[in-house]
Amino acid sequence: MKYLDEFSDPVLAKRLFDDIRATVTKPWSLMEVCGGQTHSIIRHGIDQLLPEEIQLIHGPGCPVCVTPLEIIDKALEIASRPDVVFCSFGDMLRVPGSGRDLFRVKSEGADVRVVYSPLDALKIARENPERQVVFFGIGFETTAPPNAMTVYQAQKLGIENFSLLVSHVRVPPAIDAIMNSPDCRVEAFLAAGHVCSVMGIREYPELAERHRVPIVVTGFEPLDILEGIRRAVRQLEAGEHTVENAYPRAVRTDGNPAARAMLDDVFEVTDRAWRGIGMIPDSGWRLSPKYRDWDAEYRFSVGDIDTEESTVCRSGEVLQGLIKPHECEAFGKTCTPRNPLGATMVSSEGACAAYYLYRRLSTPSAGQEEASSVG
Ligand code: SF4
Repeated sequence: MKYLDEFSDPVLAKRLFDDIRATVTKPWSLMEVCGGQTHSIIRHGIDQLLPEEIQLIHGPGCPVCVTPLEIIDKALEIASRPDVVFCSFGDMLRVPGSGRDLFRVKSEGADVRVVYSPLDALKIARENPERQVVFFGIGFETTAPPNAMTVYQAQKLGIENFSLLVSHVRVPPAIDAIMNSPDCRVEAFLAAGHVCSVMGIREYPELAERHRVPIVVTGFEPLDILEGIRRAVRQLEAGEHTVENAYPRAVRTDGNPAARAMLDDVFEVTDRAWRGIGMIPDSGWRLSPKYRDWDAEYRFSVGDIDTEESTVCRSGEVLQGLIKPHECEAFGKTCTPRNPLGATMVSSEGACAAYYLYRRLSTPSAGQEEASSVG
């Protein structure tokens, strides 16, 4: 398959591994920002095949994982109302709130529907003018443009029974927060290629310079990730800290101007709490005043909700790269994808789910390293 098979070529992968081995002379810790990259790394055993000097730290780039508990509880409260059709992508339905999840609310009789696009929710609103239709708009810079477009369309078409429950987050402030943490061990970043395909890379040079950290925009296939690692290690060994684009087939310097214009029109930057991490200034988007009438938080007056996090789940430490998933005592025992205690075990991009799916049940041994392969 074009753009997939050739980026898993084992001969080229070996060349990149050899190049990395020949370059590295001391220990380095690299963070892959996106959960999609984490899954690719674990699935292909890339971390186990790298020289032992290189440690990959799994970052917070899983939209489901970082959606704050307060927003999940607001979603549960709105979805429980008898006049509401609550629409969401499927992976949000099993994310635990303080006491239950959207599946439980649905089983109790609420009208919760899985959709494949926010525009599907808008269609439901047009077809059911007597119902309030809410779409759960979560995620990074990748999912924000279609959600913005849906609100734009709702205003343009005068669809007043549609609203968006917004919890969008932005990557660059999270990188800043990670680097400002006293526990930070990250020495280079593999930035999320799909985020940069929307936003471009102009926000990154200032971060790289201020924190003296290499940032390499990286894709998702095995060779993309190896090339990102190769470039990051080369910079670290040379004492450099610049921004490089290792994903030029998808990322332009200015990203997608049409999508960015839509974001600028519909959203405004706000502080946002990240689940397991806490409040990060300017790290999110909310609907701008012009579109406030389509904001579900205002429409349903769910401003103040007390939340209670699980005392067992250590996903905050997982999301900050402080522990690996299998270091959590609940991993694979009381917490599994069937019975998740935390969002990082629910999402297809969550690090705990990746470790469970690919049987990373303990710290890798030499034998496991031999058994892993790329391609
Ligand atoms: S294994 Fe489960 S309980 Fe432990 S950090 Fe991951 S999601 Fe939380």
